[in-house]
Amino acid sequence: MAFFLRYLAAIVAILAVGLLLERFARPGLAFWWMATAFGLQSLLSAAHLAQLNHWTALPRNRELPAGMGPWRGTFDRLARFVRQEADARAEMLGELERIHAAVDRLPDGLVVLDRFDHVVWSNVAAQELHGIFGARRPIHHFIRQPEFHAMLASGEAAQPIRLTLPGRPGRIYELRLQGAQRDQRLLITRDITEHARLDAMRSDFVANVSHEIRTPVTVIAGFAETLLTLDLDERERRTYLESILRQSSTMQRLVEDLLTLSTLEASIDRPPDDETVDVHEMLRALVDEAKVLSNGRHAFELELLGPRRVDGIAAELESAARNLLTNAIRYTPDGGRISVSWSVHDGEGWISVRDTGIGIAPEHLPRIAERFYRVDRGRSRETGGTGLGLAITKRIMLRHQGSLHVASELGKGSTFSLRLPAARLRADDAGAT
Ligand code: ADP
Repeated sequence: MAFFLRYLAAIVAILAVGLLLERFARPGLAFWWMATAFGLQSLLSAAHLAQLNHWTALPRNRELPAGMGPWRGTFDRLARFVRQEADARAEMLGELERIHAAVDRLPDGLVVLDRFDHVVWSNVAAQELHGIFGARRPIHHFIRQPEFHAMLASGEAAQPIRLTLPGRPGRIYELRLQGAQRDQRLLITRDITEHARLDAMRSDFVANVSHEIRTPVTVIAGFAETLLTLDLDERERRTYLESILRQSSTMQRLVEDLLTLSTLEASIDRPPDDETVDVHEMLRALVDEAKVLSNGRHAFELELLGPRRVDGIAAELESAARNLLTNAIRYTPDGGRISVSWSVHDGEGWISVRDTGIGIAPEHLPRIAERFYRVDRGRSRETGGTGLGLAITKRIMLRHQGSLHVASELGKGSTFSLRLPAARLRADDAGAT
């Protein structure tokens, strides 16, 4: 409006000057005045329009030239508007780039599919996982498994599927289609190897526990039934009752070990550092206890070279060392020797239990501390084993930032060792016995 008024005012001014000239000067002069003034004004407008026309044809980031006369304000405002729009665009592009970079860093593969299941866009993970390249190619060129084709065809009701992908041996992936409408769907590929492994471990564990419990329960039920149905003399009755008792204590030990293991696994926090354990006293007591258990069948040795005290949880370290000692007794034939030692190597504390027992073949060693893993199931059961002792011991050592080590030779014997980190040894009385 202001522009129009300014333009009008200029016309009125030219006309007014023309009238004055007509009246007070020569009539011809008024004509020349008006012709020149209107001509100049049209020229000015034409020049600005030409500038504007030229500017619109230029690339977007060119500056708009400054205007003159009534055009100045208009050109200034237009230039400001164009600058603001360019700033907003740059900001949006930056934002988009950041989002792209973030999506590309995602470990999950993301693919946007159009209504014909052609790839519209994919992130780096998807390109690497499925070998996606080029523009608008059908997704089934890259993922050829029949299960995937079935999922694509099943539309909205598509259930996630689990697949292995070529070139990724040993890994398991879950592929999921998301997006209600068919014109745009998102395909998500996620590595679920760890998840699947935990799932398998969990069901293995449940199967193992059920199996371990079923055996004594079956035996107990069988003996109880015999006791009820048969007319037995006192000696036979006693034998059956003793078997029942033996099986119930196996079950009791199993339940106790399971509870210990689950408590250890639940407490992921570091154990408190302020409790100190007298390793010398602990090992002496454990060896005395072992002698009773062995009942003279084995010879024992105890060597205490390390510091008296360490930081840790007494009950746990005792249980870890006891597991090694009872195993040594159980897997060493009569007349064997069991040597217990406590020493320091490279600043770290080592509790070692060496036996001259049956030993373990090398192929079993990597799995020996797994839950329910036994070399000889029969022997473990006969001697009252639950298959959980070493798993518990390993957990305890991990909680103390230490570890469990095994060295063994079949037929010759084994050495099981507990390593405690240097930080847990009490330096003040190092070497004292
Ligand atoms: P278990 O209750 O069966 O003894 P563990 O977890 O304590 O369970 O031990 C797992 C397996 O390791 C045992 O079944 C046995 O085969 C083997 N093992 C453990 N300690 C010894 C040892 N000192 N000598 C030989 N084999 C051993």
